[in-house]
Amino acid sequence: MAADPGQALFPSRGHDHAACVAGALERAAGICARRGARLTPIRRRVLELVWASHAPIGAYDILARMEPESRRSAPATVYRALDFLMAHGFVHRLSSVNAYVGCGFPDNPHMAQFLICKECGAVAEMDEPRIEQAIGSAAAQAGFAVESPVVEVRGRCPACRKEGAPDARP
Ligand SMILES: [Zn+2]
Ligand SMILES: [Zn+2]
Ligand SMILES: [Zn+2]
Repeated sequence: MAADPGQALFPSRGHDHAACVAGALERAAGICARRGARLTPIRRRVLELVWASHAPIGAYDILARMEPESRRSAPATVYRALDFLMAHGFVHRLSSVNAYVGCGFPDNPHMAQFLICKECGAVAEMDEPRIEQAIGSAAAQAGFAVESPVVEVRGRCPACRKEGAPDARP
């Protein structure tokens, strides 16, 4: 692990993902309790579904995976739950793929940068202060007020690069 800290950004294939999900739900429950916010069963379930993998998931895919009794509720319910989860920093929205991904650091509000693998869809979140500062100062020079400084970078993750064959998949 310590040999190549850059690669640790992407979770290894075959890691204990159940632990990621359990950890995310536990952190969210703890933060909600401290903030006096309600992690309702629907919000909790949507968070769990966002964390189903490290790849981003769209709102309609979330809805499709809900239990039948929740699915009867309008997509608006899922969107409202996602708004709540975003407001508390539990998930981020990736506009380039119109989908959501769980955040591993919901305790501290941050501007995030994402590396998005175009092959397997895995996403790694970086919180690199130098990028934030560069965007902030360049935008200030342009007289621009930044509201959504999320950076999305597409490419190939370490696992997909290791598999080689760059053009093997469509
Ligand atoms: Zn995981
Ligand atoms: Zn984050
Ligand atoms: Zn990949």
